Amino acid sequence: MRLNTLLRYGAYPVILGGVATFVLIWATLGGAPWPSYLLVAVMGLIAVAALERIQPFQVDWNQDHHDTLTDAIHVLVNLVLMAGTAYGLHLVIGRVPTTALWPATWPIALQVLLAGAIIDLGLYAMHRLSHRVPWLWRLHAIHHSAERLYWMNGDRRHPLSALLLAGPGLVAAVLLGASVAVISAWLTLLTVHLAFQHANLDYSLGPLRRWIGGAELHRWHHRRHYADAQVNFGEFWLVWDWAFGTRFDQPSPVGADDVGLEDARFPTSYVGQLRWPFGADAATRARV
Ligand SMILES: [Zn+2]
Repeated sequence: MRLNTLLRYGAYPVILGGVATFVLIWATLGGAPWPSYLLVAVMGLIAVAALERIQPFQVDWNQDHHDTLTDAIHVLVNLVLMAGTAYGLHLVIGRVPTTALWPATWPIALQVLLAGAIIDLGLYAMHRLSHRVPWLWRLHAIHHSAERLYWMNGDRRHPLSALLLAGPGLVAAVLLGASVAVISAWLTLLTVHLAFQHANLDYSLGPLRRWIGGAELHRWHHRRHYADAQVNFGEFWLVWDWAFGTRFDQPSPVGADDVGLEDARFPTSYVGQLRWPFGADAATRARV
């Protein structure tokens, strides 16, 4: 088999499968999520970044667009946010009343999938709201302002937007009784998946592309024209997009100049992007 075919169809199952295998074995053995999950997530991100250099989807997207440093800060901040969330759950779980509904006797893998489904549905709902409610869109617009798609875009998010997107699903999973280990395992998988979802990597999920939110369908969500971007909201599963009628697919690929926002005058510095949603500029220019 040729190397490009091997990378195209093997990259996602090998890397995400490797991360999943590690976290599931670790959780089954009762290992502490910190710092193991963060380290394995970082290794997954490095693997995706390296593969982009070998087999890019768009050669131009491997070039700096005056965004690399800012995106690196976004990645660092959001990794800290993920680790902080896991630690916060550690402090909270056991001290808040939860239902007795959680199937704690199920195998860890099934518990992680169940927690993942709850968190993912919350993400889908909040993502759709973020495209409808003006102040939520202003926070989310930073994610859409990227003029190229590559591994760091998964974390190019205003921290407030990240918390609002993930918060409801996480709270629901906690209140239902999911454990720290189970939720942290899913967040680790999601971190690496989000790098794949935005990766400048010529890869394919094959027949699963319609059900798992990989880059093939998610690139349509980043089209420059606002009306075109109201599709494929799913963070991990596209099941929600299928169920609620927002899934979109077509054979021709997204072009190198097709992603971003219609108004290109968006701050490029990290601090500028953090402040932008609260400025008068955002109030007049953000489109919903
Ligand atoms: Zn979006």
